[in-house]
Amino acid sequence: MSKPTNKPTFIPKMYCNLFGHHYQVTKKVTYHVKEYTCSHCKKQLTTNSNGHLIELTPKFKEINVILERIHTSRMERSKKKTIASSIY
Ligand SMILES: [Zn+2]
Repeated sequence: MSKPTNKPTFIPKMYCNLFGHHYQVTKKVTYHVKEYTCSHCKKQLTTNSNGHLIELTPKFKEINVILERIHTSRMERSKKKTIASSIY
């Protein structure tokens, strides 16, 4: 096992400084909240409750897990409902 490298390497960081981050959606938490990861430096972002992009800290990861759980259970419930009343 090699030790985990938390620090992004110098070159991808340089690249992002010059060209900007290249974020890709890595996880859909809810319709409005997603998690993004920069494909170069692996910096992670998430959408907060105001719809702004913020750094994905361990605290927000936790919040997203909870949000996702609520969202999934809502989806499960609304699935049954939307069959009857769907204007989605
Ligand atoms: Zn980046």
